Amino acid sequence: MTEQQGGSDVRANTTVAAPAGRGGTGADYLLTGHKWFCSAPMSDAFLMLAQAEGRGGNGLSCFLVPRVLPDGTRDVYRLQRLKNKLGNKSDASSEIELDGTVGVMIGEPGRGVRTIIEMVARTRLDCVLSSTAGMRQSVAEAVWHARRRMAFGTVLSEQPAMRSVLADLALESEAATVTALRLARAHDADVNELERSFRRLATAVAKYWICKRGPHHAYEALECLGGNGYTEDFPLARRYREQPVMAVWEGSGNVIALDVLRAMTREPDSVAAFDAEVNLARGNNPVLDAHLDRVRRQLGELVTEDPVRAQLRARTVVESMALALQASLLTRFSPAPVADAFVAARLGPNRTHEYGTLSASADLEAILGTTRRAHE
Ligand SMILES: Cc1cc2nc3c(=O)[nH]c(=O)nc-3n(C[C@H](O)[C@H](O)[C@H](O)COP(=O)(O)OP(=O)(O)OC[C@H]3O[C@@H](n4cnc5c(N)ncnc54)[C@H](O)[C@@H]3O)c2cc1C
Repeated sequence: MTEQQGGSDVRANTTVAAPAGRGGTGADYLLTGHKWFCSAPMSDAFLMLAQAEGRGGNGLSCFLVPRVLPDGTRDVYRLQRLKNKLGNKSDASSEIELDGTVGVMIGEPGRGVRTIIEMVARTRLDCVLSSTAGMRQSVAEAVWHARRRMAFGTVLSEQPAMRSVLADLALESEAATVTALRLARAHDADVNELERSFRRLATAVAKYWICKRGPHHAYEALECLGGNGYTEDFPLARRYREQPVMAVWEGSGNVIALDVLRAMTREPDSVAAFDAEVNLARGNNPVLDAHLDRVRRQLGELVTEDPVRAQLRARTVVESMALALQASLLTRFSPAPVADAFVAARLGPNRTHEYGTLSASADLEAILGTTRRAHE
């Protein structure tokens, strides 16, 4: 999708596709142009957007570009450069040139975005799962280290301030996990209309929030390892470099927040499905109930807001929605000490900005016990 002049705005793509024969869906085209980001260039096939020309052309369309053509020869696919990236180094990303490259039109002519967005919805789920898996790794490494490292006469995991940090990191991981798996279930349930409506909004909300929470979570976890955490001899430095990419690709933060606005206006069923899901937890916790009311109010206001103000408020509302979903799922499916501490720490009146600031009444032993059982 991404070209120099347009990544988020793929309609600005300039790669062209000329029909090799009759043209139209299922027909061969010859693609000419340049892609600024193409990950995993060693793959066997790629979905690409290009402006279809000729009879039956009609603009931006989606193509399946094979690496090897049916006669066994290689398709034209010129790797110009590998990206020198912050992280994510084991997954090569490249700049490529297409010069009479064969691609088969997939989906309707001129409906390229609509066609490729089906894949993008799944890869956004993948971003959520990857960030979540990264949080789990971070917690496992931090807890493992803290349980063995002695400082000031006892293991770190017995020092109250460290216990609060570890428990808070575990809460974030738990919240991401329950949300990611609920979302994955909605993606599995293709035939269920309610689930499809729910996932339309929930995928964007979870992609925005969980992927944004990833980098800071990794940073705080690596600090639990002290100086070792900052070195390449231990795994969390690499995790720290990996987490931001989940937020950047497949729709960066603003683009995702604006996508939520779009879904709200064009697909109101998705709002109803999201509201129904989070309100399954109503009555479980008074702080959560108050937040659910707030989210309803925010959603109602956003729909009637003028477009500029709506865009200004998009991130605020998406964050509220994400916390509502996470807290709702935790109060339904996680042990009470985990759910209660999460609601207090993320939605309560004394919430703060950093990890390790859980209330003195939080049951750290129970939270860390849940984490230990999950990791052993
Ligand atoms: C490691 C890596 C691998 C990648 N692999 C691929 C790949 O295989 N295939 C592929 O197609 N792409 C790939 N990408 C590209 C990635 O999807 C894009 O970089 C991303 O979608 C953002 O597009 P852009 O870089 O053009 O930034 P821009 O579109 O210029 O956006 C820049 C910033 O502006 C924000 N923004 C954009 N529009 C608006 C708006 N209307 N209002 C407010 N803010 C806005 C964005 O959220 C972003 O923060 C990869 C990127 C990375 C880092």
